[in-house]
Amino acid sequence: MSRPVSANLEIRTGKDGERIACSACGHGLAPAGTPWKRHAALREISMNGAGGKAYTGAPEALLRQFSCPGCGTLLDSEMALPGEPFLDDIVHA
Ligand SMILES: [Zn+2]
Repeated sequence: MSRPVSANLEIRTGKDGERIACSACGHGLAPAGTPWKRHAALREISMNGAGGKAYTGAPEALLRQFSCPGCGTLLDSEMALPGEPFLDDIVHA
């Protein structure tokens, strides 16, 4: 049993309760209601030289991409400064 919570995340109900999971491959990331981003594969890209149109914000800004450790699907991304905590969006069951 599963229901979507975003484009690439869903809540799956299994024998160990409800988990936030990748909807592409079903890889479980974290129990529902807890931060899941620290369980994803993180890639940080400097906004400088990221290509495309020039970025005009803080020169040290990073683009963080959170991907599924199982299949590599991009689950979420956020902009942050180095050392900033993740913007945890808690997914409640
Ligand atoms: Zn996956």
